[in-house]
Amino acid sequence: MNKTLMIMKPDAVKRQDFAYILSRVKSAGFTVRQMRMLQLSDEKAKAFYEVHSERPFYNDLVKFMTSGPVVVVWLERENAVDAFRELIGATNPADAAVGTIRNDIAESLEANSTHGSDSDENAEKELNFFFG
Ligand code: ATP
Ligand code: MG
Repeated sequence: MNKTLMIMKPDAVKRQDFAYILSRVKSAGFTVRQMRMLQLSDEKAKAFYEVHSERPFYNDLVKFMTSGPVVVVWLERENAVDAFRELIGATNPADAAVGTIRNDIAESLEANSTHGSDSDENAEKELNFFFG
């Protein structure tokens, strides 16, 4: 089994889209191992997206990710990282394939509803970041 971190971002939480997202996750064969709702601090959001700190959208991204609570979810499945990124679709919902979560519910490139780890190594780091 492989692991990945999903985050239900503030836009998804504001819309209360938990049931929709978790039902898609279940249908795609993932197991939820741990799950928690929390409010990211400025410091924690900055650290989580540290890799993007030099990008022009960094400050807005941090502002968005701290604009309301998020739900962090530890998922397991075979080939979890790639399978989950396929399920959520492209970063920009305008480019996300029909049937993906982002195509279905995301609002914009910034408010794109879900995060998924992008490698096994980052999944490990990100799960450790939230679940210790
Ligand atoms: P995530 O890491 O949230 O799962 P991703 O891996 O698909 O998304 P990244 O390149 O890691 O995309 O970007 C992280 C987040 O930063 C994106 O989800 C998006 O909200 C935001 N972002 C990425 N590129 C841009 C951009 N050009 N303008 C504004 N926001 C952006
Ligand atoms: Mg990413």
